[in-house]
Amino acid sequence: MVEIPVPQHMTAEEFRRHGRAVVDWIADYWERVESLPVRSRVQPGEVRGQLPSTPPQVGESFDAVLADLDTIVVPGLTHWQHPGFFAYFPTSTSGPAVLAELLTSGLGVQGMLWQTSPACTELEQHVLDWLAEMLALPEKFTFAGTGGGVIQDTASSAILVALVAALHRVSGGQVARDGVARGRYAVYTSTQAHSALEKGVRISGLGTSSIRLIETRPDLSMDPDALREAMKTDAVQGIIPVMVMATVGTTSTGALDPVEPIGRICREYGVWLHVDAAYAGVAAVCPELRWIHQGVAAYADSYATNPHKWMLTAFDCDACYVADRKALVGALSVLPEYLRNTATDSGAVVDYRDWQVPLGRRFRALKLWAVIRCYGVEGLRTHVRHSVALAQQFAAWVAADERFELMAPHPLSLVCFRLRGPDEPNQRLLEALNASGRIYLSHTVVRGAFTLRLAIGGTATRYEHVSAAWDHISRIAAEG
Ligand SMILES: *Cc1c(COP(=O)(O)O)cnc(C)c1O
Repeated sequence: MVEIPVPQHMTAEEFRRHGRAVVDWIADYWERVESLPVRSRVQPGEVRGQLPSTPPQVGESFDAVLADLDTIVVPGLTHWQHPGFFAYFPTSTSGPAVLAELLTSGLGVQGMLWQTSPACTELEQHVLDWLAEMLALPEKFTFAGTGGGVIQDTASSAILVALVAALHRVSGGQVARDGVARGRYAVYTSTQAHSALEKGVRISGLGTSSIRLIETRPDLSMDPDALREAMKTDAVQGIIPVMVMATVGTTSTGALDPVEPIGRICREYGVWLHVDAAYAGVAAVCPELRWIHQGVAAYADSYATNPHKWMLTAFDCDACYVADRKALVGALSVLPEYLRNTATDSGAVVDYRDWQVPLGRRFRALKLWAVIRCYGVEGLRTHVRHSVALAQQFAAWVAADERFELMAPHPLSLVCFRLRGPDEPNQRLLEALNASGRIYLSHTVVRGAFTLRLAIGGTATRYEHVSAAWDHISRIAAEG
């Protein structure tokens, strides 16, 4: 008999021991993260400089990995779960989400087809139907209607698949065969929209020359009259409008495009309307904030929001909905022989490989399910209301201080503000705040002026953190 060396795996007993240590490590990290500098202080190359140049030839203990996590990795982290993290949009994680992620990787299933793990698909369909109901999204976005939801990694992927579905619909399937002809199509969004659309048109082959950036109104929301003019101009030249992307809560300032009048124009021209609500959409879990979705039910062909931003569901989790699943599946479905199976042939199941760019997919629904079950709809409302109330308090402090000005409406949890006057003191203020290690803010440019952004939504952020942040900002600004 030939001797075949047997691979050595972590035993069940070792896994239990290290697993407990890892859970303890995370709990300790969450308890102490407030004492760490929010933005990492390492210099470029400093992390790599501490790592051995070659991998170990012989396996080490997991304890050695954990030890290096403390000494090498943690100092090289910017702490997104720090209660003083107010930059970009906080990416909130939570106990239920992390535990469910652990289960996801422990199960190690691949949900590319219904058949490759039925529960992975059906739980995702079900939880996304739940979320649609929680956000008061229309029935057309559910599996009871003509559409349905799918978890994408990010809002960027949601934009890309919406664009491809829109191209499929407008071309009657021709684009899937022949690709896109140069100069034939146009895509519309506001000057304030996320750069993910530009990436999407590059990847889809439309090219950036297909984008029409529509001017905004004084509140930085898309101007529907300007949208109509742009479409008219294109129509005269025989250019076909493919998609309009409206944003509910722009990244720069949280501006809310008027989806209803935009939607009416889309309907008139037969154009696909995608609503990018990556950050703000989950706020609609609160009945008093559902006005942000005005027009979505009547007009949107697709819609996406990121539970990983403001709904406590560890990165990555984007909930992406389409009103007509046939357009999306038509655009993306490819069925090679090796994926054929009777469940797919029966037409009775959803195969999520047809709803996304990759074939393989993680069991992400588990964490969204865990978050919704453990917080409950009421718990999630409390989280959103808490962030909104803290942001309103912060904005009131800014408004009451004549050195500062507010730069945009702030109905949700993002506040854009600056020192009155030139940009340079604002740039210095931001750098001093972020170098302090106590808080972390990012910036944008509003009407040409350098502006600080304070976004609230982190899991651990409380009144005392926002109040300390304001004291700190106020004091550093006074020191000039
Ligand atoms: C965060 C954000 C995105 C893109 O984020 P992803 O990392 O791709 O999920 C897109 N649009 C808006 C409005 C955003 O806030």
